[in-house]
Amino acid sequence: MLCEKNIFKKDYKQVDLRFALAYPNVYRTAMSSLGYTILYNCINEREDTWCERIIFPSTNSIESNTPSKYFDILSFSLQFEEDYFNLLKMLKDAQIPLKRSERGDEDPLIIAGGPCATANPMPLSDYIDIFIIGEGENVINELIDVYLSNPDKGLEKFLKVDGVYIPEFDNETKIAIIEDLNETYHVTYPIVSEGDVADDMSVFNNSIMLNVSRGCTRGCRFCMAGYLYRPMRQCDHRKLIDIALENRKNSGLNKVTLIGAAVSDYSNLDDLIDGLESEGFQISTPSLRIESITRNTLETLKKSGLKTITLAPESTSNLRKVINKHILEEQIFTVIKNAIDLDFNIKLYFLIGIPGESMEDIHDLCEYMKKIAEMHYNPKKVKFSVNPVIPKPHTPLQWEGYDFKDVKKKTRYIQKEMKNYNIKCESPKKGLIQYTLSCGNRQVGAIIEKSLTKNVILKEWRDIAPKYEIDDPLPWDNIDTGVNKKFLKIEHKRLKNLKQTPWCETGPCYNCGACEK
Ligand code: SF4
Repeated sequence: MLCEKNIFKKDYKQVDLRFALAYPNVYRTAMSSLGYTILYNCINEREDTWCERIIFPSTNSIESNTPSKYFDILSFSLQFEEDYFNLLKMLKDAQIPLKRSERGDEDPLIIAGGPCATANPMPLSDYIDIFIIGEGENVINELIDVYLSNPDKGLEKFLKVDGVYIPEFDNETKIAIIEDLNETYHVTYPIVSEGDVADDMSVFNNSIMLNVSRGCTRGCRFCMAGYLYRPMRQCDHRKLIDIALENRKNSGLNKVTLIGAAVSDYSNLDDLIDGLESEGFQISTPSLRIESITRNTLETLKKSGLKTITLAPESTSNLRKVINKHILEEQIFTVIKNAIDLDFNIKLYFLIGIPGESMEDIHDLCEYMKKIAEMHYNPKKVKFSVNPVIPKPHTPLQWEGYDFKDVKKKTRYIQKEMKNYNIKCESPKKGLIQYTLSCGNRQVGAIIEKSLTKNVILKEWRDIAPKYEIDDPLPWDNIDTGVNKKFLKIEHKRLKNLKQTPWCETGPCYNCGACEK
């Protein structure tokens, strides 16, 4: 049975607004989402609002068992495109009409936020009343203020809130970004979960999630988050240590997970780790960039209890140029060797379906993975995860499409060639569906809805999967992330020519547009 500490219980008669934060995936995933936990605490700071959580597959709140349809606002967090199916299922199971055109005054206002909602609201635009575009903390408070000042059902009044897209008006909007991480809201009163099954714990297993940075400007051409949330912003390491101490005081937790788009790029990483370690914290982090991991960082992480190092070389050297992930072979092999010496478990991520990639490249990739595995005294201790590249909105790959047949052929080859190693390949069909949900238009909504009652066959996904030419209008053109299309087109051209675009933190600015937001 699930047991939680530090949740908010309020008297519903004493608040003006009941807000449900819905998560269309299981508890373990929901409670590992930094954005979800920030919004929960941040909204509950308001005396006029009680924010409760509704987590798939349930349609009632955890805090008071209230059914979804009795909330004033029902807000979905969209971290993964595959969760769109669960979102519609949650509405259906809650007996809330799916389509916004079929809902009435007695139904909650349905909103959605998170990276998928930000990048391309179109596939769900017949179902969601308002999308939050960007980092939600500021937008949500303004949206609640507007709601409370005029709770009638008309949506026009929300157009004045920065960072919202309202399908009814098909308005143009600019992404909302937190400028200063030192000034923004950080959780200091974290929920602690205890349960008798692993699913009742967060992925980070009851640790304090410290938001060290947001945004990454390295410019990997496949990475949607890297284009959406520019520029890179960091929180001062002394402030982070204070936040960790406050969290420990309020929760008793002693393990810290460092969260950021690229934690190892954090400029004071060693000071932060040393400071946390001297306060007796155990430290862990899910994301490290190979080129900024030093032996010292690995040793400190090892000492503080980290067991697994997850790295993403993505591909072989030449293909890394296509995706602008310029890591030297020497750096990759040094980090892996150090990680093996320090007895870490090692997990490595690779991509297939990179533009221009041939079967010969796939053969080379298999040899490359074998070479890495054989560095270990027990090659099975090195885990490989191979995933198709999913072209995403607002990236230079948005014009590349998804070649299902090609990905399938390559996946089969790798599975056969690597059968004696510890490898997991993502299904090519899942990749196709994810691509279609990411880059599709309004019509994709009908297929998602159909899947609630009928089986959607592969051919239907293949038929609806888009392929955009460079001058086509794109479904997400109304969303201005700051990064301009001209820059993305230049990057698209550069990827064809294997040209690298350097990191703007250490090199010159190449005017992507993000800093003029
Ligand atoms: S505008 Fe320049 S400095 Fe800012 S993120 Fe883009 S390239 Fe980097």
